[in-house]
Amino acid sequence: MENSCLFCRIVSGEIPATVVHRTETTVAFRDIDPKAPTHVLVIPVAHHADVVALAADPSAAADVLATAAAVAEKEGLTGGFRLIFNTGRDSGQEVFHVHAHVLGGTPLGPMLA
Ligand code: 5GP
Repeated sequence: MENSCLFCRIVSGEIPATVVHRTETTVAFRDIDPKAPTHVLVIPVAHHADVVALAADPSAAADVLATAAAVAEKEGLTGGFRLIFNTGRDSGQEVFHVHAHVLGGTPLGPMLA
């Protein structure tokens, strides 16, 4: 838990969020500014700044992927979905607590359009 981290504060409940799925090691909640009909962020409870740091914790990385898959099933994303980990400045990463964006509910179009 890092007191200055927005997503650590969502994990602790100090900042409210619409949680759609929770496990012992992960939390999934709706993005405050959705870019698709379903836009859910999946985070590990443990603070890792980005996906590079998460890769050094294979168990947490696997849990994040499993929760993303569970969210897609729960949200009924039978047509598929997009999973994005923005990483670092050039990607536009804004929150430095690693998160997977689960996007779906409509055809999403080309990746970099
Ligand atoms: P990034 O650009 O770091 O990959 O994505 C950060 C995401 O967090 C953005 O899509 C943004 O809308 C979302 N976000 C920022 N602040 C909050 C918040 O306080 N609550 C929720 N639920 N989402 C947030």
